[in-house]
Amino acid sequence: MTRVAARLQPFGTTIFTEMTALANKHGAVNLAQGFPDFDGPEAAKAAAKSAIDAGEAQYARMSGVPKLNQAVAGAFSRRTGVPVDPDAHVTITSGCTEAIAATFLGLINPGDEVILFEPFYDSYRACVAMAGATPRFVTLRPGIGVGVGVGGKGFGFDPAELRRAFTDKTRAILVNTPHNPTGKVFTRAELELIAGLCRDLKVLAITDEVYEHLTYGAEHVSLASLPGMFDRTVTLSSVGKSFSLTGWKIGWAIAPPALTAGVRAAHQFLTFATATPLQHGAAAIIANPGSAVREYVELFRRNRDVLSSALRELGFRVYDAEGTYFIMADHSDVSSRLGVSGDRALCTALIERFGVAAIPPSVFYENQEHGRSLVRFAYCKKAATIDEAIRRLDRLRSA
Ligand code: GLN
Repeated sequence: MTRVAARLQPFGTTIFTEMTALANKHGAVNLAQGFPDFDGPEAAKAAAKSAIDAGEAQYARMSGVPKLNQAVAGAFSRRTGVPVDPDAHVTITSGCTEAIAATFLGLINPGDEVILFEPFYDSYRACVAMAGATPRFVTLRPGIGVGVGVGGKGFGFDPAELRRAFTDKTRAILVNTPHNPTGKVFTRAELELIAGLCRDLKVLAITDEVYEHLTYGAEHVSLASLPGMFDRTVTLSSVGKSFSLTGWKIGWAIAPPALTAGVRAAHQFLTFATATPLQHGAAAIIANPGSAVREYVELFRRNRDVLSSALRELGFRVYDAEGTYFIMADHSDVSSRLGVSGDRALCTALIERFGVAAIPPSVFYENQEHGRSLVRFAYCKKAATIDEAIRRLDRLRSA
């Protein structure tokens, strides 16, 4: 009998852990869990190694190694034009996942309502539960709303549904852009609509922008850069996705002092501080990224294009994805050819019969039915890995 606390019992083991274990067991190409199959930039590694050699072995400052706070503040200010104070506004955390938890635990009260867009990254729903709050959902659907994808086939939302989600109990709305798992980049028009509601109804915004650099033509807009929004927004990001350093677990929260106080109130008791030498490595690469991000963006763009067209040829309906390193597709036609039903059965079949792993997205929906016909592929891999996956999937033609 499980002894997991009641608030976490509904969540079980994450889909990423489950699918990666299954992929490893069957020797499948892992397009499930989103992590690159190559190292991050040499300059980041060299700076982290010299920090270890220089004896940077003790606790970092609770809010972050000063030069990392400076690098994060500088990069955000340069991109958005919003002035950020490295010490008063930036808190370094153990990955964006810790920043999400610290933000919820430090700023949300039991009984508050928090608006999430679904499909949602799994940790949001769990953090709402850990904070004792109640989630309300706005569903992203293909081809609707104020800002759908370039080809008109991406995901959007119904503005009326968004307005209905705001009640007198709403404390915060979480916006993840570029969006995992749909690959959607929220448009300026969509963000302005959200910002207007936050300002009018005095609601906080929490943004997860870990894919901020991974866009392929679309403009990434930070909600905090819209008029009147810095004072009510906690902007979260990390080095994991931008620099292919997902295992470093270096993330941050940028917020005005009143909100930073809540983030730090929780962060100091969650982890207190984050790996000191890795903060030095992160500071070096953020301050001097060189061509690193540009090269990853080019590789991922190529992978997205090649994988999308291969999947389309095999009968998947692939939705336009302008950012992140994920593709969402409808698998209905493929599943019926394979004689399986639902996203889990499809993913099991892809692993066991074709040697390719993907994520069944129904776990990212409150009403899991909404995700049953969908599948998510991660393309943050070497070109050769994507090509091998396509070769294996090619046998779907004769299935
Ligand atoms: N963010 C990554 C993804 O969506 C991995 C998440 C995880 O492993 N917890 O695939």
